[in-house]
Amino acid sequence: MKKYVLPSMLIGSMVVLSACKPVDWAEKKWNATFNEESSEENEKQISNEQTTPKPNDENKNETPDEQPSAESDLPWLEETVTASGDGKAVVQNLDDLLIVANKERNLPGDYEPKDLVTPNVPFPFKEDLPKKKLRKEAALSLEVLFKAAEEDGLELLAQSGYRSYDTQVSIFAFNAEQKGEEVANKTSSRPGQSEHQTGLSMDVTSQEVNFELVEAFGETKEGKWLAENAHKYGFIIRYLKGKEEITGYQYEPWHLRYVGVDHAKKIHEQGITLEEYLQKP
Ligand SMILES: [Zn+2]
Repeated sequence: MKKYVLPSMLIGSMVVLSACKPVDWAEKKWNATFNEESSEENEKQISNEQTTPKPNDENKNETPDEQPSAESDLPWLEETVTASGDGKAVVQNLDDLLIVANKERNLPGDYEPKDLVTPNVPFPFKEDLPKKKLRKEAALSLEVLFKAAEEDGLELLAQSGYRSYDTQVSIFAFNAEQKGEEVANKTSSRPGQSEHQTGLSMDVTSQEVNFELVEAFGETKEGKWLAENAHKYGFIIRYLKGKEEITGYQYEPWHLRYVGVDHAKKIHEQGITLEEYLQKP
């Protein structure tokens, strides 16, 4: 019978949620330290990528000019799509944390991640909607990120995460009707081309911008903190200023994308987009 108990975030008091979901990972991870998260993540990355790191290798000491350790094992863009009957590029590495969906790379209409969960973080609305969800690893890491931001005196709110193909059909149709298809294509995604369908993206906002998803968020203390710190928790700012030609999207300081700590650090240090990171040299 328990319902979500969401505090009155709209009046600005930051309360650690005692959200009552019967989900043991949420309780456990809410108290996890970043170092635990980081080392778990590193282990995962290492086993996934079959790298052979030195025994004492620690990412903490990594320097910006160090070469990526697993470069040859990355899922390169051209190797992770196949052409469908109508010539569209269809993404194949669906459960990969480095999956890329964009205007040239389509997710299958029936793809839904199997491990979607609701992170224990504040949202500016009470309803239990699918857009609260993320894939499990991303959700756990988002909790750690939010906790770190809170400790730095900041108040982040999660606005929009997972979005199904069918929801994207409705959103794009609505935007195209309101603004015309050309404008809609710049500001929203066509069905199958939204990163939100991967369950690895969360739009984040704050009270200072009235919980909206606007460029001004990048100038708030929360937006600046995210730009400087999100990578430590495995997230990147996916749509950077000045990279619109590469990503196909305008600057979105609110759109976090989970890729794992190891990759996020490298992407952040190089100041590049996910597309550039996965371009085969
Ligand atoms: Zn977004």
